[in-house]
Amino acid sequence: MTNLDEMEYNGLLDLEGAELCGDLEERNPPISLPNQSSDGALLAVDIGGTLIKLVYFEGNEDAMSHGRATGGQLRFVKFQTSRLDECLEFIRLNRLLYGRGLDTGSTSLNVKFKATGGGAFKFADVFKEKFGVSLDKLDEMDTVVTGANFLLKKIPNESFTCMHGKRTPVVVSQQNLFPYLLVNIGSGVSMIKVMGNRKFERVTGTHIGGGTMFGLAKLLTGCTRYDDFLQLSQQGDNLVLDLIVKDICGELVCLKQGLSASTLASSFGKVLSSRRKLSDYKAEDLATTLLSAFTYNIAQVSFLVASLLRLKRVYFGGSYIRGHASTMDNISYAIDFWSKGQMHAIFLRHEGFLGALGALLSNLNLKNDDMIFEDSKESEFNNDSSYADDGKLTTELSEDSVFPYLLVNIGSGVSMIEVIGKGKFERIIGTHIGGGTILGLARLLTGCTSYDDFLDLSQRGDNLTVDLTVGDIYGEHGYPKIGLPATTTASSFGKVTSNKLSDYRAEDFAAALLNAFTYNIGQISYFVAKLSGLKRIFFRGAYICGHAKTMDKISRALKYW
Ligand code: ADP
Repeated sequence: MTNLDEMEYNGLLDLEGAELCGDLEERNPPISLPNQSSDGALLAVDIGGTLIKLVYFEGNEDAMSHGRATGGQLRFVKFQTSRLDECLEFIRLNRLLYGRGLDTGSTSLNVKFKATGGGAFKFADVFKEKFGVSLDKLDEMDTVVTGANFLLKKIPNESFTCMHGKRTPVVVSQQNLFPYLLVNIGSGVSMIKVMGNRKFERVTGTHIGGGTMFGLAKLLTGCTRYDDFLQLSQQGDNLVLDLIVKDICGELVCLKQGLSASTLASSFGKVLSSRRKLSDYKAEDLATTLLSAFTYNIAQVSFLVASLLRLKRVYFGGSYIRGHASTMDNISYAIDFWSKGQMHAIFLRHEGFLGALGALLSNLNLKNDDMIFEDSKESEFNNDSSYADDGKLTTELSEDSVFPYLLVNIGSGVSMIEVIGKGKFERIIGTHIGGGTILGLARLLTGCTSYDDFLDLSQRGDNLTVDLTVGDIYGEHGYPKIGLPATTTASSFGKVTSNKLSDYRAEDFAAALLNAFTYNIGQISYFVAKLSGLKRIFFRGAYICGHAKTMDKISRALKYW
């Protein structure tokens, strides 16, 4: 009998005829591999800050009965990272470490099993102890890109656009796929420019991601299950908490100035003026506001990055999307709105499993050259002389003259205005995550009612009790490959597991809020200035005026970006 070590070494993955199977309306439908042999173990895990994603091959029963086993499906399962033991038990019960045709008597097999995500590093010892296996640790960005490329190239009907709840399949032309922007929304968000099969660059990311939204959702709505939260969000009214343009300017001014009265001006912006406490709000209204605030924010940063890189197609991955129609609608609407119809948001059915799939495919001998894709000609990007040759966002601030400059006015929301001379200016863009959002959330989480109280609280707090760091995900060495030390915040509020406010300190909430949103405003301002070719940015508005700590954080964010 061949041992698993040899199996692994000789492992052949046959992707010919790969297609979706089973009920296509189901989440994460299996992928049929009609020619795949069942002889060896075939599984991979992606252990993230919040979820473990497991993909494994299950051979067909009927194929088994005809001597040599061929044909079966790739299957997809998720577990909470905090319940790693459930994942281990699933692997054990389903004998996933043993190929079908193998003698399964032996327990201490010297198998290498493919793993990615920070947990592959952090929990390697647990796997060794439990199964006697070494994890073959693969880089997270590598595997996410490999997984996305595999799905886009090889699986018909995998990708689609979604508008007003209607999904339209996207036919991916083999020549035209690259370059694209891959926005992977997990606990935090990574944005990767993909230029070819193994050609990519992580251009940026944000720590305001799925972990931030769900962390705040637990605290504000009491939900502990993500699906309960999504369901609640469909029953609420965001206008109870959000300020829209009409609330600020009045309908008449909107009409006169051609502004859309219903545009979101400040998420949670009504909270401060209404003086209601958290318990006065309905959980469903809070959920609706949270979902739109964070989804639009991620979509806006994605739009800015795609614009800077001159990319027209933005693929969204990560479990945040969760096949949820209104999340996808919000993203599509936002990308369409800001790009004036020039960019497209595209989703994938297996959005949460890109890393796990990529890990499964990595280093295996692929039969039939299935993953050799044509790379892009990259004409869209390289012809633009205002960008660095390697496509990196570059920082070159000069102090030649005052005009033109970007004026960032931080009120309840944020307005970004290009000022080209005295009295000559134009509003370019804004964000709904502004001072009103920070103070609104501070009021709900901590009860404080003034900005001074909030700042005071924040100075005494420690954001690390609620923020998830790179070290929490990867362990003490951080993620050196992309230059992220263990102390970097990966996901603001991403460590919140309890739905009881009293389990945390108000000052820690305040510190985390200040960090999260101030860096976000700094990041967006930087991208907008870069996009508009403006080298100076002035910040003004009641939210920051004279508050050293806020100004310091914005300056740090700008310096960093
Ligand atoms: P990571 O690799 O960082 O764990 P994922 O891509 O798995 O990231 O996405 C995690 C995010 O997905 C969460 O922050 C949350 O927004 C969302 N999510 C989707 N399903 C769940 C779930 N069952 N439990 C918790 N979060 C979920």
